[in-house]
Amino acid sequence: MQGLEQLLLTGPPWAGIALWAFVGLFVGSFLNVAIHRLPLEGETVSFPRRSRCPDCRTELTWKENLPLVSWLFLRGRCRSCGWSIPARYPAVEALTALLWGLSAWSVEPRSWGDWGMVVLFSTVLAGLVVATFVDFACFEIPDEVSIGGMFAAVVFSLALPGVHEGTWVARAVAEGAGGQVDRFGALLGCLAGMAVGGGVLWVIGWIGTKAYGTDAMGFGDVKLLAAGGGFVGPGGALAALMIAAMVASVAGIGNMLRFLCLSRARARSRGRSGGWQRSLRVARIAGRYLPFGPYLALGIGIVLLYWNHVLVLFG
Ligand SMILES: [Zn+2]
Repeated sequence: MQGLEQLLLTGPPWAGIALWAFVGLFVGSFLNVAIHRLPLEGETVSFPRRSRCPDCRTELTWKENLPLVSWLFLRGRCRSCGWSIPARYPAVEALTALLWGLSAWSVEPRSWGDWGMVVLFSTVLAGLVVATFVDFACFEIPDEVSIGGMFAAVVFSLALPGVHEGTWVARAVAEGAGGQVDRFGALLGCLAGMAVGGGVLWVIGWIGTKAYGTDAMGFGDVKLLAAGGGFVGPGGALAALMIAAMVASVAGIGNMLRFLCLSRARARSRGRSGGWQRSLRVARIAGRYLPFGPYLALGIGIVLLYWNHVLVLFG
């Protein structure tokens, strides 16, 4: 135990980072379960107890349940029924390991308080991974992540007020009290971040609904940015939204081009050379259905880990 303490607090930084990334690998394995089960009725992350093949329902042995290794060893197939295990499973495990490693790297922990911050960053990033993959698969963001995230933001802000060191509301309170961001300031920064993050998306959605007559913004996105704002404060929430909007527009244009190419290829194979108008219309309608949650998650994650660098970007 003392050896571990020595390694984590005074050992070479890469050792702590590597160890934390390794823990992240197993967390990623658990996140796969959450991503699969949260949208399903009647299943929770703890029920049923053992992991099963989603196709033939055979319970997995521990050997078939090791992150990354099992997928490679089984060559991406269920041992019982041959169901091809989606690449999403190893991808989520590798991504979580990477993000957990990044959390430790960005903090460079040298005390237990620092490690507390690493845990906070890693927890938020894990939630964002779940939100991202569920939104891609089902066009919804589970309340367990968004509403759960809001509660977590309050608890973490009180436990680790330092998370709001870059939040102007918290800093203003700290200056009044002469220095360090305290629990009260952090709580105010958290609540302000939730109000601004959720509020701005809600207003954008409301305007969009008035302008287009359809739901422009899912309420899941509103709740997700509210939760994110609880961790990065009001300015951070706006920066996260800007990053999300920029990346989503690029992805949106790419998506429309993809549908345009598909539609052209189909028209050509049917021997129609014209019909550009029609292809463009198809691409515009089909390309519109992109979930926004993954881009919000990306923005929140970037701001959470690299707020100081983001501030430089936005002047
Ligand atoms: Zn199976």
